[in-house]
Amino acid sequence: MTDQISQDDLPIGRGIQGRCPRCGEGRLFRGFLSVRPACEHCGLDYSFADAGDGPAVFAILIGGFIVVFAALITEIMYQPPYWMHAVLWLPLVLIVTLVPLRPIKGLLIALQYHHKAAEGRHAGRSET
Ligand SMILES: [Zn+2]
Repeated sequence: MTDQISQDDLPIGRGIQGRCPRCGEGRLFRGFLSVRPACEHCGLDYSFADAGDGPAVFAILIGGFIVVFAALITEIMYQPPYWMHAVLWLPLVLIVTLVPLRPIKGLLIALQYHHKAAEGRHAGRSET
């Protein structure tokens, strides 16, 4: 018996697919990014789920790197007119930030469930 976390126990795939982190059957989201109140399959209460700004931060950092790198390479190699940059990179910005947003949010909620992460709380005053 070991206390180490097995890779098989990590609900990464369930989170990326937007499924319940406990059973993997129920859906996590209602709409694009709204989290359901509870799992429709196993009844897990999703009130613990609060990914905060985490999904947006990861999407912005990863997407920003991709777009800026591609724009710099294109500018250095081809020097296209500015309107061409707008035509190329504005749609790409939307794609590389909006598409991974939901899987990232599902992943963060699944990891939050797995690691029992929550806001800090006062333990209460100890009587001595
Ligand atoms: Zn469930």
